[in-house]
Amino acid sequence: MVVAPSMTSRADAVSGRILGLLGTQGPTSRAAIARRLRLSPATVTQVIKELVANGSVRELSSVPSNGGRPATLLGLGRDGAGAVGVKIVADHLAIVDVSIAGEVMRSTTVPFDPSGPNAIERCSDILRDAVADHPGLLLGVGVGVPGSVDAQDNGVVTSSMIGWDRVPLGAVLREALGVPVLIDNDVHAVAAAQLLYGAGREFDTYLVVTIGLGIGCAVVVERSIYRGAHGGAGEIGHIPVTLDGPVCQCGATGCLEAYIGAPALVRQARRDGVIGPRGTVATLHRAADRGEERALAAFHRAGSMLGRGLAGVANTLDPQAIVLLGEGMTAWPHWQPGFDATFRPHLMVDRRQLPIIREDWTDDHWALGAAALVMASPFDSDASGAQGGLVSARLQSMQVTAR
Ligand SMILES: [Zn+2]
Repeated sequence: MVVAPSMTSRADAVSGRILGLLGTQGPTSRAAIARRLRLSPATVTQVIKELVANGSVRELSSVPSNGGRPATLLGLGRDGAGAVGVKIVADHLAIVDVSIAGEVMRSTTVPFDPSGPNAIERCSDILRDAVADHPGLLLGVGVGVPGSVDAQDNGVVTSSMIGWDRVPLGAVLREALGVPVLIDNDVHAVAAAQLLYGAGREFDTYLVVTIGLGIGCAVVVERSIYRGAHGGAGEIGHIPVTLDGPVCQCGATGCLEAYIGAPALVRQARRDGVIGPRGTVATLHRAADRGEERALAAFHRAGSMLGRGLAGVANTLDPQAIVLLGEGMTAWPHWQPGFDATFRPHLMVDRRQLPIIREDWTDDHWALGAAALVMASPFDSDASGAQGGLVSARLQSMQVTAR
């Protein structure tokens, strides 16, 4: 049979997405694949047949399905692929090697000054070593930055937090590393990890809210991250909450983050004498643990401001759930009384059952999120563009090298 070139490339694209789904979601039935990728059952059956024949997919155990005959689960024919995830912070790079199933295999921290001379070259050098050391087949490098990024597959970065203005990080890294590179805002990257490995697997439209140095939010709509016109959607930390108020890092006054971001909490607590002049957010946390009233009041106030702000966002966007995570969540028991007092009372009456899901947090989360940009790229070609196509091609090459 003669197959037109366009049909071949479509079949290749479909097999790349199926391999990506199995790699990131684990064993899945044919029916679930068709549902998740919005393909016809006939297409899925045909492509799976070819993938089983060439050894890149294998049939695993069967599970009972609703009343019908048992559904066979499918898995990748070969393990060993993974990604490198990188989180750029004000004073270091956090780097993880992640397997395709989302396990962190190795995690390192390298000192890095993003505002120093030759910062981009230094970043390239560090990542060149990370790529060389990656065990197994590397699908690509994902980078999360605390700022806005024009497009994942281009990667021009602007960030007031690390002092970058339209830095062409993506182009430099692709040239230096020779592998697919996907770059996004760090909160978007964490949301990509939630989509693949976290609570986001259960929902289609939800918010991922991070609490820490800043207050961030990723808006996930129908399983895609909404980026906005300039890649900067979700900056809920910069919702103006008072007419005047403290100056925010963004230059405006009275932003939510200027009250409840970690630096703001610390500044206020020092000024009020709740902690000493060198006290940190951890000091404030310990004081609250000891039951010191003014420390408890500081967190209560932060919780109530967050609750009001998030209720406004939820009323605007009508999500199915809100996932809360970030470094600040370790102190959540102290935030929660204030949050509970304001959040649900400010929701529209018919939405007050909105689930709030709290995720445990480790330091690796940010970098794991960056690696998830690579893993997610085969599903989201709108966002991942040409680099996502290269990741798909690498997934398919697994079967070639396995033969
Ligand atoms: Zn602001």
